Amino acid sequence: MLKIFSISAFKDNYIWLLQEANSPYCVVVDPGDAQPVLEYLLANRQQLAAILITHHHADHCGGVATLLEHFSVPVYGPAGESITTVNQSVANGDKVNLPAINAVFQVYDIPGHTKGHIAYYGQGVLFCGDTLFMAGCGRLFEGTPEQMHHSLTTLAELPDETLVYCAHEYTLANLAFAKRVEPDNLLIESRMQHAMQLRQRNIPTIPSTIQLEKATNPFLRCHEPAIKSAAENFSGKSLDKAVDIFHVIRQWKDNFKL
Ligand code: ZN
Ligand code: FE
Repeated sequence: MLKIFSISAFKDNYIWLLQEANSPYCVVVDPGDAQPVLEYLLANRQQLAAILITHHHADHCGGVATLLEHFSVPVYGPAGESITTVNQSVANGDKVNLPAINAVFQVYDIPGHTKGHIAYYGQGVLFCGDTLFMAGCGRLFEGTPEQMHHSLTTLAELPDETLVYCAHEYTLANLAFAKRVEPDNLLIESRMQHAMQLRQRNIPTIPSTIQLEKATNPFLRCHEPAIKSAAENFSGKSLDKAVDIFHVIRQWKDNFKL
């Protein structure tokens, strides 16, 4: 049975730590900072068995070099990006075998936030870095709207019950935007109430599920009439293609202030 713990880093990053019950080994996803990981490992008498990286931004891989000074382990990362600390490059369709935690993950290419961004899916859980956020999606720093829309559509096709682990606690701000786009969607309001209760107790709002994202995340709902008309009202243009609706919603969010 795979257990997943959060380690907080920087202002709002989560480093995910994966552990098989009763095993001294664990795997971390996107360690932007080594210190909180090393502290966790020491406090819990755990050893690192592998590192998974989703994309090249420093808040996701900045801690790898220091971790490698303590543990000589495989570092999996996107073949499409040059990250000097990655020693196992992986791309779409590759399998990542992690016997130390009894897990296998499949790699998905999900460009958009960055050009080579990847996700890891297996054991019913998804690690999607800065691509699919809870009720939101990552900014388009390197990719096109077409790429990001396609990447999100790919993730939305995973099983409904898939647990979604993203890398930032952006949920409340994303839900505020989702509510602005789709004020009549009551699920957004109830999700917001729940998320506020969690944050008041300093509990991560992550994971969610693919099902909940499809029901409340505007970036996965570009085919819905309500999202289409909201995007048309905002842009003052008629929009027929889902990708154009996606692009408008993304630009709207880029400039959205609470
Ligand atoms: Zn990023
Ligand atoms: Fe990030």
